[in-house]
Amino acid sequence: MSQNLLAQSHLFTRATYDFTLTKDQRQEVTHERAKAIALSFNLTVEDILTCSEKFWNATLHPINVIDGAAAALWTIHVNLACGTLTQYAGSRPEIRELCRQILAFEMTAHYMLTEVGHGLDSQNIETTAELLPDGNFEIHTPNRRAAKFMPASIIAGGVPRIAVLMAQLIVRGQRCGIRPFVVPLNDGKIMHPGVSCRVLPDRSGTRPIGHAITTFTRVKIPATAFIGDLDSTLPPRIQFLASIWRLGVGSATMAALCIPALRVCAHIATQYAKRRTVSDSQGNVVPIITFRTTQVPILRALSEAAVTEALYKEIRPYFSAEDTSDLPNVLAIRNALAGVMKTITVYHFRESSISLTDRLGAQGLFSENQLVALEMEIRGMTIAEGDVTVLCIRLASELLLGRYSLPAPRYPDSLLAQHEKAIFAEMRELLAGMNNKHRSEEFNRLLLPRSKAFIVTIGQRMAYEAAVDARVDPVLVSLYEASAIIQDLSWYVESGKVRRKDALAAEDVALTAAFAKLDEFLEQADCGPCVHAPVISQESWEKYVSNLTLLERPSDRRIAPQPMLESARL
Ligand SMILES: Cc1cc2nc3c(=O)[nH]c(=O)nc-3n(C[C@H](O)[C@H](O)[C@H](O)COP(=O)(O)OP(=O)(O)OC[C@H]3O[C@@H](n4cnc5c(N)ncnc54)[C@H](O)[C@@H]3O)c2cc1C
Repeated sequence: MSQNLLAQSHLFTRATYDFTLTKDQRQEVTHERAKAIALSFNLTVEDILTCSEKFWNATLHPINVIDGAAAALWTIHVNLACGTLTQYAGSRPEIRELCRQILAFEMTAHYMLTEVGHGLDSQNIETTAELLPDGNFEIHTPNRRAAKFMPASIIAGGVPRIAVLMAQLIVRGQRCGIRPFVVPLNDGKIMHPGVSCRVLPDRSGTRPIGHAITTFTRVKIPATAFIGDLDSTLPPRIQFLASIWRLGVGSATMAALCIPALRVCAHIATQYAKRRTVSDSQGNVVPIITFRTTQVPILRALSEAAVTEALYKEIRPYFSAEDTSDLPNVLAIRNALAGVMKTITVYHFRESSISLTDRLGAQGLFSENQLVALEMEIRGMTIAEGDVTVLCIRLASELLLGRYSLPAPRYPDSLLAQHEKAIFAEMRELLAGMNNKHRSEEFNRLLLPRSKAFIVTIGQRMAYEAAVDARVDPVLVSLYEASAIIQDLSWYVESGKVRRKDALAAEDVALTAAFAKLDEFLEQADCGPCVHAPVISQESWEKYVSNLTLLERPSDRRIAPQPMLESARL
């Protein structure tokens, strides 16, 4: 079934009423949706291993933003868990069979790296996997700080649950680095012996995934549960990065969810703004879409979605390349590109979604209207699979130190490329003044706080270039460029590149041109089948209201219902 048809099925249209269900019912329904979305893409082991276009573009579909928990579940299941296994599926039949079961959703698969005491310093995790004399392994949580944090170890979905778990491999008393293992969590009815979890509350304003704190007490797993090569001679840091390589893929693919999220928010805000009217001082009735303050966030969101989609598609070959002869460099560039992708999309989504939600007035604050719920889901995604702040700190530091570099600008004369070059030079100069000491207090004070803005600058340039080369509608590209300039206007003015009034006028011209094509852009985005927010039409609003709990005196029940007014609110 196509994703648009699936989005119109009861499983997805009922999302508007999820908040009337119990937590257990919501977890079941989310599990069903995760399974339905993943199966609809019909992904193979090869698709996942090579990051094929089918795999890569799956998160761009707006069906993913109906239920953010379902999107998180299926991407963890397919990318992090199955993805880690795919590398060995060709050489180990039992792993190929496990991948088949995962892709058929005969079990659900999770990914356990983070520990209560080790989040962003995950290279220090303490969970152990000790090689036993018989060749099997024993998984153990040595203390409370080593309990696995966040993965959904709960019993749900009626199928067995496993995890790809990262643990310190111990061979004959020696630590041999962090390596992946397949561990059973439960059989769909009862927890596996030695595995226990404490169920965490729901993240504020989101649909429940079943986050938990999980501990392992001397859990025996077979030798085949080890994913990798016991005799690996890779240096510990490279071994660690190689073990968690799917996190880089996850940073990029999860970040891509911001693209349909921007489009869905723009779609809902436009529909509301077209039907919501106000009277002006002359008594003329005008829809709120006529106000520039309503148009700006909608049009900016559509331009941001278009150019970041071009960037996302452009970086895919770096993740699908099978040549790993220079593994440290391959991993570094992949993680760097994923960091840029995540930073720029999250930056745009968080800026735009707040304005778009506000433009819905009180209606924007109800989860049923999708926008505020998406904001909360994307907040979680900002932290999971690489916290944006720390991704930016690491990436900016490594670029400034010259450890590697990103693809050079293709249009070095563009204003965005000149901006990036100047910001880089400014930060390099500061670093040189610190004798290149990146672990100094000065670096902490003066450069770390500028890391995110620096990576955003790189992301804006790269997205702009990708959009030009992908022939994205020039109206959207011009708007993106004009808006990006305004976001750091002081630099452009200070360096004599533009005059303030010209930059503002350029954005006005770009907005006017984009507004003339708004309906065309929304039609191309094709979010309609995936939007179930009651506010988008009078009909859906009235249907929604008629399902709300009604309190009235029994004697009033004979009074005919009043027609629902346009101005009625949730
Ligand atoms: C929705 C969601 C789903 C998740 N799912 C999974 C999952 O399936 N599997 C899994 O293993 N984990 C999962 N996680 C956990 C996630 O990977 C961690 O939350 C993440 O790595 C951050 O760790 P932490 O929360 O412990 O933050 P901390 O490590 O406590 O960091 C908090 C803040 O401290 C600061 N900080 C930390 N280190 C540095 C540094 N070096 N330099 C400067 N500042 C620093 C930053 O400002 C950072 O934002 C999930 C998290 C979320 C939110």
